[in-house]
Amino acid sequence: MSLNYEVLILRYGELALKGRNRATFENLLIKQTRRVLKDLKGWELKRPSRRWILFLGDNDPEDVITRLQKVFGYVSFSPAVVIKEPTMEKLGDTARQMAREIGKEIKTFKVNTRRVDKRFPADSYAVSRELGGVVLNEADGHLKVDVHNPEWVLSVEIREEGAYLYSDSYKGAGGLPYGSANKALLLLSGGIDSPVAGYLLMKRGAVVEGLHFHSYPFTSERAKQKVIDLGQKLASFGGHFRIHFISLTEIQKELKLKVDPDLNITILRRFMYRIAEAISEKEEALALITGESLGQVASQTLESLRTINAVTNLPILRPLCGMDKEDIITIAREIDTYDISIEPYEDCCTIFLPEHPETKPRIERAVKAEEALDVEKLLEDALQTHEIMDLR
Ligand code: ATP
Ligand code: MG
Repeated sequence: MSLNYEVLILRYGELALKGRNRATFENLLIKQTRRVLKDLKGWELKRPSRRWILFLGDNDPEDVITRLQKVFGYVSFSPAVVIKEPTMEKLGDTARQMAREIGKEIKTFKVNTRRVDKRFPADSYAVSRELGGVVLNEADGHLKVDVHNPEWVLSVEIREEGAYLYSDSYKGAGGLPYGSANKALLLLSGGIDSPVAGYLLMKRGAVVEGLHFHSYPFTSERAKQKVIDLGQKLASFGGHFRIHFISLTEIQKELKLKVDPDLNITILRRFMYRIAEAISEKEEALALITGESLGQVASQTLESLRTINAVTNLPILRPLCGMDKEDIITIAREIDTYDISIEPYEDCCTIFLPEHPETKPRIERAVKAEEALDVEKLLEDALQTHEIMDLR
């Protein structure tokens, strides 16, 4: 008879759980858990003695784990066998079956016992020793005990409601539950970086909305669809994702006429931040997020960032700032945005790109250049092009 892993033990990080935060944190985690398991029947989350135990019903543990791996806040999951009213004999039977399922490549093990329910007659040391003996017997010479660096660990928890036996642990997404922080507005291009930046802050609990600038008809419908596809991926982490679309076409035409080509990108990006600030106000977002990474392109030198930054007082979160491209790509692959990002559709920034952008634009120069423009009017007109799309 093969073992029945009736439950998953769910673990979350405890660090953020001070005082009243705990209840908020747990409620958000439960909400997200319900969301990813919504279309499955027969499961039940119980929380005896502070442990989070998910009774699987007829559901496949692997499937449930894959779904839960999208929920920020969980650290790990272990499929476990439950023994109600445990006795040493029942524990031994299960330990024996689990030992039978270990692959031959495993050479060392230990048993780790926690006895929370002191009514159980043997103490944790005695349980570990007894079950260790059972495993050794079953393995018939293939296994040795190694308490310091074992390849396989049989964990036993003896609690009031029963005993749990488990050996595998699957990694969770980590982070903090989605929604445990306030809202932030992500400047979402069709590139590799910005979806990763958004993901990283969603992972820290922020509610993220996207803002995409297009230059229709210079950029295509297909380029817009690409951004929607990226937004859809991000929606899978929180359950929904809102994208704001704004046209920069008129601003770009005006810049082409009235601004030195080498300053074009700097001024354009100052407009992006100003528009982002206006949208943040409407949406009650408290910060902006970008995919900027130090030194990646001309507009991402410290001097550039400062000059662009000077138009807004909102905090600008740049979670990728200290990361190498390769590490960013690794995350993009993990969250499944990479293949979408590399689709070859034009971005609004690339179509009017000057040949030699200034890498050290001074604030004074940017301010001076903008004197030739009716900034307020350009902003107002751009905001008239605002479209909203809600993804689930
Ligand atoms: P990405 O891979 O995110 O496009 P990038 O390396 O191409 O970044 P830039 O094109 O300089 O760098 O853009 C820097 C950041 O500015 C982007 O990460 C994004 O946050 C924002 N951004 C750029 N283009 C747009 C756009 N069309 N709409 C909204 N935000 C944009
Ligand atoms: Mg880009």
